[in-house]
Amino acid sequence: MSTPHFTTQALHGDRLGAPEHGVLHKPVHNSVAFGYADVRDLVAIFQNRSAGYAYGRQSNPTTDALARKITAMERGLASVPFSTGMAAIGATFLALLRQGDHVVSSAYLFGNTNSLFGTLQNFGIEVSFVDATDAAEVAAALKPNTRLVFVETIANPVTQVADLAGIGTLCAERGLLYVVDNTLTSPWLFQPIDVQASLVINSLTKCIGGHGNALGGSVTATGCYDWSRYPHISDAYKNGDARLWGLTQIRKKGLRDFGAALAPEAAHHLSVGADTLALRVERSCANAQAVAEFCAAHPKVRKVFYPGLPEHPQHQRAKTLFKHYGSLLSIELSAGVDCFDFLNKLELVVSSSHLGDNRSLGIPVAHTIFWEMGAARRASMGVADSLVRLSIGIEDIHDLLADFAQALA
Ligand SMILES: *Cc1c(COP(=O)(O)O)cnc(C)c1O
Repeated sequence: MSTPHFTTQALHGDRLGAPEHGVLHKPVHNSVAFGYADVRDLVAIFQNRSAGYAYGRQSNPTTDALARKITAMERGLASVPFSTGMAAIGATFLALLRQGDHVVSSAYLFGNTNSLFGTLQNFGIEVSFVDATDAAEVAAALKPNTRLVFVETIANPVTQVADLAGIGTLCAERGLLYVVDNTLTSPWLFQPIDVQASLVINSLTKCIGGHGNALGGSVTATGCYDWSRYPHISDAYKNGDARLWGLTQIRKKGLRDFGAALAPEAAHHLSVGADTLALRVERSCANAQAVAEFCAAHPKVRKVFYPGLPEHPQHQRAKTLFKHYGSLLSIELSAGVDCFDFLNKLELVVSSSHLGDNRSLGIPVAHTIFWEMGAARRASMGVADSLVRLSIGIEDIHDLLADFAQALA
């Protein structure tokens, strides 16, 4: 058979791996420990000489099966699963960076990632925030001690689209590690390997799980980066394929030592969700496009931020890079329209902080998820006080448009 495509692979991947008893889903293995008849087999696992399971904090057959599914979706070499998206991001930085290192990051960031960078700065890691919609801004910020460049594909909540290809070329030329948070696009809309990303991060909690019933995160090595040029890889992990050394260090330092292991039960929920990723994202993107167009034409909405609208500053770039424009949009209401009243009037759209869910959700950004960072940093990210973020789900579009119409009436 020829190599199966995205959804076929997601649906049949577990079964083709010859799982126990011919099951169609990889079972939930709750055993924390694994026993060996020959202790030499256990020793070989500890010394990275053979694959296998030693202790549930590092790996488990159920979470491994999910990691393989994510790897296939990202067309990568291997993935490490984590308990949350933030655990995946935090573990990556802590495993790879040292005091005195410098990071260049997009200024347009998920709020908690922004906060995490503050923590890293307290540990003596320098961070420069730049306008990543232009690779020249990234280039201008590079220093001799720059270790990695971090960007999100579509930034939350104002939907800036990073110069993903330009930054990829720059990082390849300079031999820099390029870390892309693919959460807002998901591997169905965009695979960062196509812009030479080194590592891809996904919050599995969002589109990939999709049902808001489990937290999870992942880091995928694309194979584009040769870790023999990275200065901080421990000698213990320099064996085998050099394209995987960094991911081994993230598994060992980031997962084993910090302990944010994905629970097998959660991995099962996320894996079932991932089966329908393409179907759900197709629908939510079509709905988001319709809602964005409706709002853009409505007199009570001052501004709509959505990459699928022709007036979006990076519309052309998004069109080139992504299959569709995502399920997230933000709106600024016209003067005199209260954003709390608007959210309260919406009947289907739930006031909630989540995104990438089957259900449509809305939140006033400045008062909640971006509250802690303060007015100055919010302004630098383009977040107005009246900004409402909307994550559009898979409801029937007529119902959604009717809900927006009555809430804005
Ligand atoms: C939600 C989110 C995260 C964090 O994921 P959790 O699973 O909630 O920890 C990271 N990056 C982006 C872009 C997100 O939207």
